[in-house]
Amino acid sequence: MKQKTVMAIDLGGTRIKMGLVSGSEILFSTEMDSQSGNGLRKRLPEIAKSMNDLLKQASLSPSDMAGLGIAIPGIVDSVNNKILTINDKYNDAPDIDLNQWAQETWGLSLFLENDTRSAMLGEWKYGKGRGYDNAVLMNLGTGIGTSAVIEGKILRGKHFQAGILGGHFIVNVKGEQCNCGNYGCAEAEASTWNLPEILKRYPQHADSLLFGQPKIDFKTIFQFADSDPLALLVRNECLEIWAACALNLVNAYDPEILILGGGIMASRDIILPCIEQKVNGNGWAVWGKVIVTEASLINTAALVGVGSLVI
Ligand SMILES: [Zn+2]
Repeated sequence: MKQKTVMAIDLGGTRIKMGLVSGSEILFSTEMDSQSGNGLRKRLPEIAKSMNDLLKQASLSPSDMAGLGIAIPGIVDSVNNKILTINDKYNDAPDIDLNQWAQETWGLSLFLENDTRSAMLGEWKYGKGRGYDNAVLMNLGTGIGTSAVIEGKILRGKHFQAGILGGHFIVNVKGEQCNCGNYGCAEAEASTWNLPEILKRYPQHADSLLFGQPKIDFKTIFQFADSDPLALLVRNECLEIWAACALNLVNAYDPEILILGGGIMASRDIILPCIEQKVNGNGWAVWGKVIVTEASLINTAALVGVGSLVI
């Protein structure tokens, strides 16, 4: 039977991806800057216009769609399609009735989900997690996004928080404050959004080649690691923290497979063996080894994942 087509939107912190999705296939897609600092409400008309353009390209109408799926960072009540809390992006989103927006704009039912949980669904159904009943995803991007499938079910928990707060595992009890309010979270110690602050903790910062670089992200850190002692130090410390976070995830959720995604995985040759070594060298697993692998749906996991919720 032919898969139903759905509309899917991935509201990322920097880019909004949109697509017409059929199973694992993205039939038509487009993307734009998110301007997430300005809120979501202002962006909705532009999003609607782009989706309508996709429908036109596909010679389809909203009534041909099975529904609308939206993936968004933050904690999401996926029963009532409500954004409960979101940090530093789309700050007005909890006050927007997206059910109403989907109905009024296209007459479609909405399926809303956390972005990393959507990506986990995508990898689980169509990517590297396929065939496994127990899987964990760790996305190294602007922050550290995580999600888990346990015993064949995506993990949500009583308050929709289960599995997705791995970036806030405490990896340094004497660490700095995180954007969640706690101290020493993995994100506060080793994530892109906090990298400028992380670098300032080192006295040698001013003498480093990193000082004065127009853009500081992990691409820069990995690039300079061969020539700059501070870049090497920060890279290695962040690798340790990601590996600790990965092992915490494995200890918490007992997966068969750990999938690593996100833009920082461009440096996979260094990251993968380091995390594999920590998880399988230091982990407490008498049964064998966790498969540690890179995500396969690099840019599309959240779109096809949230699309799968619609069907
Ligand atoms: Zn935190």
